[in-house]
Amino acid sequence: MKTVYFDCNATTPVRPEVFEAMRPFLSADGEYGNPSSLHTVGQRAHAALEAAREKVAALLGAADASEIVFTSSGTEADNMAIVGAAFAHRERGRHIVTSAVEHHAVLHTCEYLEKEHGFQVTRLPVDRQGRVSAEDLKRAIRPDTILVSIMAANNEIGTIEPTAELGAVCREKRILFHTDAVQAAGKMSLDLKNSPVDMAAISGHKIYAPKGIGALYIRRGVRLHALLHGGAHEKNRRAGTENVPGAAALGAACDLARREMPKEEPRIRALRDRLEKGILSGVPAVFLNGHPTERLGNTTNLTFEYVEGESLVLALDQAGFALKKSDLPGVEVSTGSACASGLLEPSHVLKAIGVPPEHIHGSVRFSLGHFNSDKDVDSALEIIPAAVDRLRKMSPLWEDRAPSPSGKG
Ligand code: PLP
Repeated sequence: MKTVYFDCNATTPVRPEVFEAMRPFLSADGEYGNPSSLHTVGQRAHAALEAAREKVAALLGAADASEIVFTSSGTEADNMAIVGAAFAHRERGRHIVTSAVEHHAVLHTCEYLEKEHGFQVTRLPVDRQGRVSAEDLKRAIRPDTILVSIMAANNEIGTIEPTAELGAVCREKRILFHTDAVQAAGKMSLDLKNSPVDMAAISGHKIYAPKGIGALYIRRGVRLHALLHGGAHEKNRRAGTENVPGAAALGAACDLARREMPKEEPRIRALRDRLEKGILSGVPAVFLNGHPTERLGNTTNLTFEYVEGESLVLALDQAGFALKKSDLPGVEVSTGSACASGLLEPSHVLKAIGVPPEHIHGSVRFSLGHFNSDKDVDSALEIIPAAVDRLRKMSPLWEDRAPSPSGKG
């Protein structure tokens, strides 16, 4: 049975074109050089690294490829931006502003600075659709604020944050603005050179490159403290021999994303819309979490009332579908052991947008991508209503439910 994969915000398969771009750097008769070596073998690897950097810069709309630093992941890029800015600018102040819906790569990094290094962190609330307001940001900024970090698009609900507006507030106050663009890159167009963004994190495995490669955009002139110390790699911004195969793959993935986006974005959005509308109209007592329009075209997060999201994910997994229950960050299919290991925390994102706990547990994320087709949506629309119906028939709560205000369930 072929798996229908609807979990592209968790990770994506490597595209064959990306694999081919990486292959020469993994072979003994290919380009195995160290890009810091002066000889020809090394210089060829160096040239490949710089070509990849150009491609990453082009996808992000950076003014210059030198503004891109390769990292091991989106998490490292977020850490480099936040800890790097905090340490480099702590003489000016120790206050950081972020939001309640950030990925843990940002939230836990801010928490670390708070607990271990005496920084103060303000976490801005979001509205019912998951958006941060510029007015709230203005009110939160203090004379000692040195950094604001608000994501470009949310991984769980897909809501797109108004980064142009938020960044403009920071620019006016001369405060650094970082955005976690891990979910936005490759899914919506970015034009960083004409935006008030100073730093932006991306990750390869969300855009059909392998796991273990990411990048941080650092606007020219922005000063960061390095996290890794050693050689002069990446212009002294990140020590360690560069992951040339990973960088080549990330470059190829960014190049594909940039060239294909005008066609791929609307194609995937249409599939997502058909899936979403089909479920909302075909299954009673389901509602959407996230912004109705300011949302990534591949993401839909739905609450199925009177259903355990975990049971639904498992039932669909058996039918060949891979998707994610909303309250288990990073866990594709939750199990009893996930519960026992304390992972069953209600999603902080759904909590922040005001979804009640019983609904959070019935929430499931569908995130589509390049390899999805109309056939996948057809089979999802065939299987999901029946699976939900079966699970609800086993629930005493469904039998005793009060009539829904929408009259649909
Ligand atoms: N930021 C966001 C919004 C993400 O969705 C993720 C991954 O899920 C990350 C950061 C971390 O990226 P990585 O898995 O490359 O460390």
